[in-house]
Amino acid sequence: MSDRLTDNMAKAETSLARFRSGTLHHWIDGEHRESSSGETFDNHTPVDDSFLGAVASGDAHDVEHAANAATRAFAEWRKMPGGKRRALLHDIADAIEARAWQIAVVESMDSGQPIRFMAAAAKRGAENFRFFADRAPGARDGLALPAAQHMNYTVRLPIGPVGAITPWNTPFMLSTWKIAPALAAGCTVVHKPAEWSPLSAALLAETCHEAGLPAGVLNTVQGTGERAGVALTEHEAIKAVAFIGESRTGSLIMAQSAGTLKRLHFELGGKNPVVVFDDADLDRALDAAVFMIYSLNGERCTSSSRLFVQDTIYDEFVEQVAQRIRKIKVGHPLDPATEIGPLIHPRHVEKVRSYLALAEVEGARVTTGASPGSSEGNFVPPTLFSSARNEMRIAQEEIFGPVLTAIPFSNEAEALRLANDVRYGLAGYVWTGDAGRAHRFAEGLDAGMVWVNSENNRHLPSPFGGMKYSGIGRDGGDYSFDFYMETKNICIAHDTHRVPSLGR
Ligand code: NAD
Repeated sequence: MSDRLTDNMAKAETSLARFRSGTLHHWIDGEHRESSSGETFDNHTPVDDSFLGAVASGDAHDVEHAANAATRAFAEWRKMPGGKRRALLHDIADAIEARAWQIAVVESMDSGQPIRFMAAAAKRGAENFRFFADRAPGARDGLALPAAQHMNYTVRLPIGPVGAITPWNTPFMLSTWKIAPALAAGCTVVHKPAEWSPLSAALLAETCHEAGLPAGVLNTVQGTGERAGVALTEHEAIKAVAFIGESRTGSLIMAQSAGTLKRLHFELGGKNPVVVFDDADLDRALDAAVFMIYSLNGERCTSSSRLFVQDTIYDEFVEQVAQRIRKIKVGHPLDPATEIGPLIHPRHVEKVRSYLALAEVEGARVTTGASPGSSEGNFVPPTLFSSARNEMRIAQEEIFGPVLTAIPFSNEAEALRLANDVRYGLAGYVWTGDAGRAHRFAEGLDAGMVWVNSENNRHLPSPFGGMKYSGIGRDGGDYSFDFYMETKNICIAHDTHRVPSLGR
């Protein structure tokens, strides 16, 4: 065991002790609150299945308390001047930065994600707050739309208390990606984090509180999707739900929210193509393709899980991917050298492993990396399916693990047809040295986001989101405010037009 791992494990234990020995309650109206039912569920770390503590299991009563607190707090929070809100959100960013290492080690132990990525994700959480803090003063800004005899202008108003429902793959960062713009817009929030990774949401609520966020502005209800999640999506006071998770859960949420006519924002699954032409910079393409599927345990919505390689270079390129995966380091997530940690939960491991068996049945060639112990417990070795065809299930379904499916193509038209022949449409990656082809291909791809000659490289003002089964709506920059705010048009006459009259 390396010194750095021993050191990190000791630090993690200091932060985890309070969770291991007690019950993690909801955070409602500025204080910890037990579940109304008194029920809890057990949380275990994916590292070795040891107990990480009991967690309050929320139900409709807890959601009711949280929604009421968010409604009361909204009355004042919406009126807070943008400049003051900006300062407060920067204070939260400072507080996250001060606790970034604690957040990162807790997150690694709770989710199995390697510390090298979680350290960056915690800092990105602070950056999300900083980015939207600076936009808070302009969030209400609208347009001037003059007509001949009327002046039209628009203003934006926070929509009200909103729900945020988040997944387990990078829980802290994704929570801030929803909560920071909602708060900057003037909304109050009820957050329902994933039951498989509940801890960092509690740290976020505490950090916001310590930084001065008023009671009730951010509330966290722990629990399962089936109970706490359903109740949140059905609650009358919650005006909109921002959801990140699986496509089929998105469908359920759409149905659950219909009765209260909620505004919905969905960031859902993906089966994203990375297309490598033989005229590309192949060294850079190899690095990016390997990184985008094997980082974050492959539990990443924008992972490049379908690799299309031109047939002229297919064998050589795929062999290089195979060589890389033999060297990828699978291990304890707190070891700074670890590149792949344990997957989140035995149920998810079972799902991912089922695709390893399926690949054999479907006739693909299976290559796995083979670090010692990399197939035990929740560990799944980096895996490559080659000689695959696009119609195979391993090429069509989101596996959400460190598993890549490689498929050859012969020309641009075929590559585009194959890349688009999937139900998802989140991200696409194209590697080519031909500028014209880059534009043509990017335009033709059915994806909300296309990166040319790059891995996923985020610029926070740019829109993030997917087409088809990958989502509805966009996040980032002003796009986030479009979701969390109502646009109101105000039309004022110059008193020069003829007002139609009846019965005069
Ligand atoms: P999931 O859909 O199982 O759960 C996500 C959240 O929804 C959890 O908090 C869960 O408790 C809750 N939930 C479940 N059923 C619910 C219901 N009926 N009503 C309300 N809430 C409910 O997803 P997951 O397994 O936690 O996360 C992995 C998925 O998330 C993958 O499909 C991945 O692609 C997707 N994801 C998408 C993006 C994106 O930006 N597009 C980002 C990250 C993850």
